[in-house]
Amino acid sequence: MGNRMRHVLALVFLMMLSSCTARPPELPTAPSGPFSLSDPLTRSTAVRLAALSRDPGLCRALLWEVRERFTEVPNSRAGPYCGFTQAVEVTGTPIPYTRNAKVTCPVAAALHVWQKEVVIPAARRHFGREVAAINHYGTYSCRLRNSSRGKVPSEHASANAIDIAGFRLSDDRNVTVLQGWNGDRDERAFLREVHQGACHTFQLVLGPDADAAHANHFHFDMGEWVACQ
Ligand SMILES: [Zn+2]
Repeated sequence: MGNRMRHVLALVFLMMLSSCTARPPELPTAPSGPFSLSDPLTRSTAVRLAALSRDPGLCRALLWEVRERFTEVPNSRAGPYCGFTQAVEVTGTPIPYTRNAKVTCPVAAALHVWQKEVVIPAARRHFGREVAAINHYGTYSCRLRNSSRGKVPSEHASANAIDIAGFRLSDDRNVTVLQGWNGDRDERAFLREVHQGACHTFQLVLGPDADAAHANHFHFDMGEWVACQ
């Protein structure tokens, strides 16, 4: 065996060794330190918000701490897969909604961080305006997932989701997902920024690029599936 061949074999061996020792990227774990909804957005925010689904007491305490305007909603069960636990009815988190939103506590917490850290700064930057109100198409709805072939309950069936239709700015301008996603430059940029920003607070985020069913709204939920489309 010539020297050249030995070098090639050694290289192949090293490559095999390195591929054997390679590890998949570490999944983020929720840090154990204190957490507040007032904290700035970080890489661990989504994980910490998702963990609230397992800790209803902490979730409520975090909403109280930021003086969220909410009322408790009694647990409800409707049929084999519908109903909700640890739901709250919010009037604004902190931006007011055009109508109240009944959502699980983790959705309310994620909405709070998303609005404070993403929506408000993006509106100031792109429009020089505040957001006066957020329009949503609904939260709780006893139904199966739109896209599923099987009978998989939607996160809406447990009030663990919200469909955001648009934003009313302080000058009464309406920025809707339907018109603005492919609208003027400012609206396109604003909507893409708030859509992408939601991926740092919610588990599943779907918008107009996901499928035709989401042409007119952003779907955000705190279920187990994680995606940003
Ligand atoms: Zn939805």
